[in-house]
Amino acid sequence: MHKPNMAESQTPEEYSLHDVRFTERIELALEGSKTSVLDWDIEHNHIYISPSWKKMLGYTDDELPNAISSWAKLVHREDQKKILLTLKLQQKRQVKYFENTHRLKHKDGHWVWVLGRAQIQYNEAGNKVRMIGTHTDITEEKELQLKYLYQSEMIEQINDSVTTTDLKGKIVSWNAGSERTFGYTAEEVIGKNISLLYPEEDLHTLENYAEVLKTKGIHSADVCLVKKDKTRIPISYSLTLMRNAQGIPIGIVGINKDNTKRKEVEDALFEQKEKLHFQAHHDALTGLANRLLFSENLDEAIVEAKAQKSAFALFFIDLDGFKDINDSLGHKVGDDVLKIVSTRLKGVLGKKDKLARLSGDEFTIILKHFSSLNDASILAEKVLKVLAEPMLVDDNCLYVSGSIGVTLYPEHALSAENLLKYADTAMYEAKADGRNTYIFYNQEMTEIALAHMDMKNALRTAIDNEEFIIHYQPQINTLSKSMVGVEALIRWKHPTKGIFSPSHFITLAEETGMVVEIDRWMMKKAMKQVRAWYEEGLSPGTLALNISIRHLESPDFIDELKANMKTYSFESGWLELEITEGQMIRKTEEVIQKLHEINDLGIMISIDDFGTGYSSLSLLKRLPIRRLKIDKSFISDIPRDSDDIAIVEAIIALGKSLKLELIAEGVETEEQKDFLLSHGCHHVQGFYYSAPVMADIIRETWLDCKVTE
Ligand code: C2E
Ligand code: MG
Ligand code: MG
Repeated sequence: MHKPNMAESQTPEEYSLHDVRFTERIELALEGSKTSVLDWDIEHNHIYISPSWKKMLGYTDDELPNAISSWAKLVHREDQKKILLTLKLQQKRQVKYFENTHRLKHKDGHWVWVLGRAQIQYNEAGNKVRMIGTHTDITEEKELQLKYLYQSEMIEQINDSVTTTDLKGKIVSWNAGSERTFGYTAEEVIGKNISLLYPEEDLHTLENYAEVLKTKGIHSADVCLVKKDKTRIPISYSLTLMRNAQGIPIGIVGINKDNTKRKEVEDALFEQKEKLHFQAHHDALTGLANRLLFSENLDEAIVEAKAQKSAFALFFIDLDGFKDINDSLGHKVGDDVLKIVSTRLKGVLGKKDKLARLSGDEFTIILKHFSSLNDASILAEKVLKVLAEPMLVDDNCLYVSGSIGVTLYPEHALSAENLLKYADTAMYEAKADGRNTYIFYNQEMTEIALAHMDMKNALRTAIDNEEFIIHYQPQINTLSKSMVGVEALIRWKHPTKGIFSPSHFITLAEETGMVVEIDRWMMKKAMKQVRAWYEEGLSPGTLALNISIRHLESPDFIDELKANMKTYSFESGWLELEITEGQMIRKTEEVIQKLHEINDLGIMISIDDFGTGYSSLSLLKRLPIRRLKIDKSFISDIPRDSDDIAIVEAIIALGKSLKLELIAEGVETEEQKDFLLSHGCHHVQGFYYSAPVMADIIRETWLDCKVTE
C-alpha cells in the first residue's frame, strides 16, 4: 500500500506554515542528523526535551521526565563538573554561545558522546534565564578521534624511533623515540631527507625504497647511522609502505631499533665465548697452551709440514727434581716454579714455535721451520740452560733441570700419537741418562719400551704365580761381632730367565702399584721365617723389611701389620721397617699418623738410603724415626773419596746429635768397617760380612754363632 508523502498531500502554504508540520519536520531533520533540542527556561525551571534526545539514550518519551534532572542524572560526573564550572565563568562574562562535548549514559550502560551547543539568554540583572540549544550524538566521531589520538600517542610514546617519510625520503613525522635515538627534535628534521642520518660513506647504499617495498612488502636491515652529535649508533630498521584509503602508496613508515644494548650484549657474549675458548685451551696456572691446544697445534704442524714437505721437531720436557720441591716445599712454591719455568721457556722460543704444558711438570715445544738436527740441538741446549738457572721462590733458592726427549717429523713418526709417544720415550731415556740432558729418539728406544711392557706383563704373572724368593743379609754389630738382624731382600725367580734382583723390577712394580702385593707377600714370608728361627731358639735379631710408601699408604696397612704379628706371634722388638729417604719426603699427614702408630706398637722405623734424598732436619725430628741407614754409595769410595768421608762423618754426627741409631750398608772392605767403627757407627751390613743369601745359609752360617773375622 502506498503511504502518501505528507509533503505531497499539502499545499505549499500548508506545508510551510503549519505549526505541527514544522515541529514534525524539525524533529525528523534533527533525528536524521542525530541531534535533539533542549530548551530550558531557567527562571521557571521548565525544560523542553525533544523525544529524539531520550531515544538517543535508549529511553521512550515517558521513561524520562521533562526535567533538568533527566540530564543531570545521566551526565558523566566529570563532564558535569566541567560544564557547571564553564557556565559559571561564562555567566560572569555574559557569554551568549556555549559549546562543549560531554558524555551521557545510555540506558544499556554505555556512554554516548554528545556535542552540546546552546544559546544563553540573560535578564537585565545579568542572570541566565534561558538556555536553548542542541545535543548531537558524536559518539562515532569521538571514538574515531580517540582511536587516532590513542594511536598517535602510542607512536609518540614508543621507545623506538618511528618515522614516516614521503616516497622520496622527505621526513613527515618524527616521534619522541626518534628524538631520543638520534638526538634531533621533530622541528629540526621534518621536511629534510632521511639521508641526513646516513654516514657519508654509506650514502651510496640508500636505495629507492618505495620501489623495493612495492615488490617486497617489507625491508629490514642492520646499519650504522649518525646521531645529531655525530656519534654512530647501530640500528635495526624495518620499512613498510604506507597507503591511502585507495591503496595508493603515499609514504614509508620506518621503525628504527637502537641496537646499542643488543650489540653490547652480543659483544659481551662474544667476549665470554672467547674467554671460555681460551680457558678450555690454556692452562690456568701458566697461561700456556694445554694438552687440547697442543694436540690441535701438533695436528696443524703435521698438515703444514706435509703440505710444504718440511720438517719439525717435537720436544718433550720433564722437569727433574720438581716432585721433590712440590713435596717438600708445598704446592704454592711448586706452582711458582712452574710459572718461572714457563716464562723462561717462552723466552727461548721463536714466534712460530709452540709451547704447551701437558700436565704437572711436563712441557712440550713444537719447533717449526727446522732445517737440521743442529737447530733442534741448539734449542735443546738453550732450554737446558735456562732451566738450570737458580730460581728464587719465597726466599728459597731452588734448582731444577730438565730431561728432554726429541722426535722429528717426518723422520721418526708421521702421526701425532707416535711423535708424542716417542718423544716421551726419549725423555725417559734422558732421565735414565742422568737427567739435565736431551736425547733424540731412535728406533731402539721403542724396543726398550716394548721390552718394558713385556716386563710389566711378566711381573703380573710373577705375582700371581708367586715367582719370588727371599734373600737375607745379616746386619752385624762390629763391636760385639754378632749378627743383630737380617734385612729381607726380594728376588724374582723367573721360570726361564733366572734370578732378577730388585733393580730390574722394583721401580716398575712401584710405578704400577704391584709393589704393594710384593711387599705383602714379603712381609708374611719373612716374618714366618724369622718366627721359625726364634721358635728354634735361635737369635736372628730384628727383621728389616723394605716398605714401599705405596704399601704404607694403603688404608689397611696397620691392620695388615697387626694381623701378621698376631698370626706369627711376632714381637714388635723383632721388626724394623725401612722406608727410603726419597719416598719419605712424600709424607702426608696420614702417613705421619701411621708412622706414629707403628712406632707406638714398638716397631722400629728407619730411613733407608740416607743421604740420597732431601729430608730436612725438621722432618727427622718430627717423625718417629729410630735409625738412619747410611747409603752404600757413600761407603763404596771410602777411604779414597774425601767428599764421601766428609758426608759419612756428617751423617754420623747428625745421627748422634738427633739420638738416632746408625747402620751403614754396602760395607765391602775392612777399611770401611774400621772407618765406620772409629767414627762410632758400629752397625754394618755388606759383602764384607755376607751378601744377601738364602735363609738356610743364614741359618748355617750365622745363627747362634759369633762373628769370626
Ligand atoms: P736396600 O734396601 O738399600 O738394600 C740394599 C741393597 O744393597 C741390596 O740390593 C743389597 O743386595 C745391596 N748390597 C748389600 N750389601 C752390599 C755391598 O756390600 N755392596 C753393594 N754394592 N751392594 C750391597 P738389592 O737386593 O738389589 O735391593 C735393591 C733395593 O731394592 C733395596 O735397597 C730396596 O730398596 C729394594 N727392595 C729389596 N727388596 C724389597 C722389597 O721386598 N720391597 C721393597 N719395597 N723394596 C725392596
Ligand atoms: Mg733396605
Ligand atoms: Mg739402602
